[in-house]
Amino acid sequence: MDMHAFPTPTTDLGEDQLAYRKAARDFAQAEFAPYAAHWDTDSEFPREAIAKAGELGFCGLYVDEAVGGAGLTRLDAAIVFEELAAIDPSTAAFISIHNMATWMFTAHAQPSLRDAWGPALASGEKLASYCLTEPGAGSDAASLKTRAERDGDSYVLNGSKAFISGAGVTDVLVVMARTGQDGAGGISAFAVSADAQGIGYGRKEDKLGWHSQPTRSVSFDGVRVSADHLLGKEGEGFRIAMKGLDGGRLNISACSLGAAQGALDAARRYMGERRQFGKKLAEFQGLQFKLADMATQLVAARQMVHTAARKLDARSSDATVWCAMAKRFATDAGFAICNEALQIHGGYGYIREYPIERLMRDCRVHQILEGTNEIMRVIIARHLLNTHEELR
Ligand SMILES: Cc1cc2nc3c(=O)[nH]c(=O)nc-3n(C[C@H](O)[C@H](O)[C@H](O)COP(=O)(O)OP(=O)(O)OC[C@H]3O[C@@H](n4cnc5c(N)ncnc54)[C@H](O)[C@@H]3O)c2cc1C
Repeated sequence: MDMHAFPTPTTDLGEDQLAYRKAARDFAQAEFAPYAAHWDTDSEFPREAIAKAGELGFCGLYVDEAVGGAGLTRLDAAIVFEELAAIDPSTAAFISIHNMATWMFTAHAQPSLRDAWGPALASGEKLASYCLTEPGAGSDAASLKTRAERDGDSYVLNGSKAFISGAGVTDVLVVMARTGQDGAGGISAFAVSADAQGIGYGRKEDKLGWHSQPTRSVSFDGVRVSADHLLGKEGEGFRIAMKGLDGGRLNISACSLGAAQGALDAARRYMGERRQFGKKLAEFQGLQFKLADMATQLVAARQMVHTAARKLDARSSDATVWCAMAKRFATDAGFAICNEALQIHGGYGYIREYPIERLMRDCRVHQILEGTNEIMRVIIARHLLNTHEELR
């Protein structure tokens, strides 16, 4: 077995996409690979590396060029996130969430606010968090209780958010809060300056993975937000949040593809090096079959993510269900592939000298956040049972 990296299929990608992939791969090799293990061990937020990613356009990948974004497609973005995540899923996923929140902001903010904050967000000079989940409202996000009461030219926010990625190091919070009745239709979205008076941050959560980015609760105690910081119109916040998540789910799926590719490459190399019973591991058919299944799962997952991305790019009416299917499939496959790669490494896979255990820990949460994989099944089943449309 040769020692080269497992080739990523290129047939369905255009020249530009191959160029983005190479740029992201080279960047991740230069700026993530030497430091990713240290960021993980020391829970260090790599602000400088993220700024450099911003210089390449990676912080506003599918944000309009008019606002300083790269103006790329969701498919292009998935290709970039996969490459970043092959080296560091945690940092790649942080950048992906920043992209999601930045897109929500630039696509829905009033022009004056969009022009004031958008370019700095799209360039990565400023960073954004997405604030939907609450202590009592996780999967049932439409039951959120954080309130925004209109008071003259402003809204006053009270309540709290849980598990907010990047909280404490980001500059802008995209906050979903209730301005009206119970349920999804009573929710509005706001762009809130992260240092506004009345905002409090909880302790940094101690997590299984994603150590290079902080996760914190955020509280709002009488936080006054100018009315022109409303994103879209009153009552549109849940719809905006879900539109953001269509792309976010693709991004997170792409991060799982990257982690899986990184793990598969490592397992393949290791099978060519490690000897037991007088043979290379690569000579055991049991392990060959394992590797074959891992590659098959990964290629299928990648096709699914790319198909869903094309649906979103084409604004297909069924894009949401495709994004849910891709998220369910790719994040489950990604974790399973990393786990198998760890097994192929034996005891060495379990220790930190090899990157496998970090890749596995980092992509575990992809099955949970941006809607758990059970909730992805709820979305898929609802589509099947309510629309009776075929999914092709
Ligand atoms: C590291 C990390 C980072 C995060 N970052 C962010 C962020 O930046 N912004 C943000 O807003 N949120 C974020 N989240 C929150 C994340 O989106 C939620 O954790 C997730 O949506 C699940 O909510 P929950 O944890 O309250 O679980 P629950 O909703 O309490 O679910 C518990 C279990 O029940 C299952 N379940 C619930 N309802 C159903 C149902 N109807 N049918 C079948 N099974 C069901 C779930 O799938 C899960 O297995 C983050 C979470 C983590 C761990």
